[in-house]
Amino acid sequence: VSFTATLISLLVLNIYRCRSCTDIRSWRQMAKAQPTPKPSTSTLPTAAPTLSTHPTQIPTDCPPDVEQLGRASWTLLHTVAGAYPEKPTPQQQQDATQFISTFSRLYPCHWCGTDFQLWMKGAGGAPKVSSRQEFGQWLCEAQNEVNKKLGKEAFDCNKWEERWRTGWKDGRCD
Ligand SMILES: Cc1cc2nc3c(=O)[nH]c(=O)nc-3n(C[C@H](O)[C@H](O)[C@H](O)COP(=O)(O)OP(=O)(O)OC[C@H]3O[C@@H](n4cnc5c(N)ncnc54)[C@H](O)[C@@H]3O)c2cc1C
Repeated sequence: VSFTATLISLLVLNIYRCRSCTDIRSWRQMAKAQPTPKPSTSTLPTAAPTLSTHPTQIPTDCPPDVEQLGRASWTLLHTVAGAYPEKPTPQQQQDATQFISTFSRLYPCHWCGTDFQLWMKGAGGAPKVSSRQEFGQWLCEAQNEVNKKLGKEAFDCNKWEERWRTGWKDGRCD
């Protein structure tokens, strides 16, 4: 029993300390709640530290929190859809499906990836990859699902291509 309890607590601690599953404010609160290890002289940074005292800002050269990781990931996913062919070959369709599946299993925020997989098994269905338009719309719906979970407004999926491929019609991206 004690072995199982130790194993469970180690797992919980490990998930608890998952930086890419946590926003920077919570991460810093967790760090404060834990004893600070004494720095060893051999591991001191050679460059001047770029520490931020603002609780919601991460220096640009630090590992991402869940929000930074999310923004970068959605940028990659929607940009991949934007570059996807209008008429993909069977191989390209297979690659896109495989990419989304692998992405969801390797995503560093574990529960984000698990929820994404559950959505694909349920309401979202398998990735829709028979055209650029279909793939872009499907990814937009995937992000709207997360938006809903986080209490954010839904994005108008008719506009995914302006946002991620062509730029807005008012020309501000030109
Ligand atoms: C697969 C996946 C699952 C995630 N799950 C979680 C989770 O469970 N918990 C959690 O805290 N975070 C999760 N995230 C991160 C979360 O979605 C946000 O990226 C993060 O909260 C940062 O939000 P943001 O408001 O700064 O911008 P984001 O929500 O990342 O949005 C970036 C930009 O995308 C555009 N956009 C918004 N919605 C859409 C849409 N539907 N379609 C197209 N473009 C859109 C907007 O222009 C916006 O400025 C997940 C990310 C990914 C990639």
